[in-house]
Amino acid sequence: MIEYNIDASGMTGFLLGLLNIYSPTGDTERAIAYVRKAFESLGLETKLNAKGALIATWEGRSAGRPRALTAHVDTLGAMVKEIKPNGRLRLTQLGGYVWNTVEGEGCFVRTATGVTVSGTILPIKASVHVHNGKEVSELERKEANMEVRLDARTTKAEETRALGIEVGDFCYLDSRAQLTDTGFVRSRHLDDKASVACIYGAFKAMADAGLTPAQRTTALITNFEEVGHGASTGIPSDCVELLVVDMAAVGEGQNSDEFSCGICVKDSGGPYHIEMRRKLVELAQNADIPYKLDIYPFYGSDGAAALHAGSDLRVGLIGPGVDASHAYERTHQDSLAATARLIVEYLLAP
Ligand SMILES: [Zn+2]
Repeated sequence: MIEYNIDASGMTGFLLGLLNIYSPTGDTERAIAYVRKAFESLGLETKLNAKGALIATWEGRSAGRPRALTAHVDTLGAMVKEIKPNGRLRLTQLGGYVWNTVEGEGCFVRTATGVTVSGTILPIKASVHVHNGKEVSELERKEANMEVRLDARTTKAEETRALGIEVGDFCYLDSRAQLTDTGFVRSRHLDDKASVACIYGAFKAMADAGLTPAQRTTALITNFEEVGHGASTGIPSDCVELLVVDMAAVGEGQNSDEFSCGICVKDSGGPYHIEMRRKLVELAQNADIPYKLDIYPFYGSDGAAALHAGSDLRVGLIGPGVDASHAYERTHQDSLAATARLIVEYLLAP
């Protein structure tokens, strides 16, 4: 067996750093730059494509059956849709989530000049002392009933505009990233930054141990996954396999958990390739890596984006188990380590 060591604290440190760089779909430059720097420090060659995704190449021992790995750095977020007469903001969503999951959440509006103004996302009837409790609880959480209360002295649209805020400004959801002393990472946006960290952790383990991938490997870190077209471009045309690294859906009725690596068998887009699934299961079993096969009922990945764009690839999907996805999420360091190990095993396999 080949010896290598996953640096759990290095990988978690990379993840916490990435979680603190906000990157909703459409505003991902800084997060991509962070990942690029980390990959370059491991000796990978990197470039960006026109739409801003990161393409990192690691020449393998062979180029006979080149492979690609992908994970996405873009996350959920919002944009200023309207500056209301009361000086508060109406938002439009970036990515798919329900408003209940961001109620009471801190947020940051970034103006065109780069100034950040903090605020809180609240229903338009938020106070039980002003409206009765029933009115507050029964108000439907939808775009028109939610607003941002800015931490600035403003009660009029003109006063808000004077802060430099305008329609189209990005609004970041506070990730509240935290590592607990029990090894959990709780944060928004673990989907899919946890997987980017797993790829980094796998690459670092291989670089530290002086290992080279069996095949030429391209890591594509996409920046438009949450809106469906992340990996539609960026994968070299001679690649024959694509390993998507994206979160495993944990919850009621699911087989996945926060302590293993999820191997997705099927999602909304249909089954993943059976040869990829067999290979991944065999690699996990041989290396004693905890894994869970599972089906994610309401889930699409960059694998579908690549296939629908016309790529001829065998696609598989693995990832760390994430609880309460697209809400305040959580995973465990054990799940990150298991996923990083399975990536290493995959890259070393002939
Ligand atoms: Zn995702």
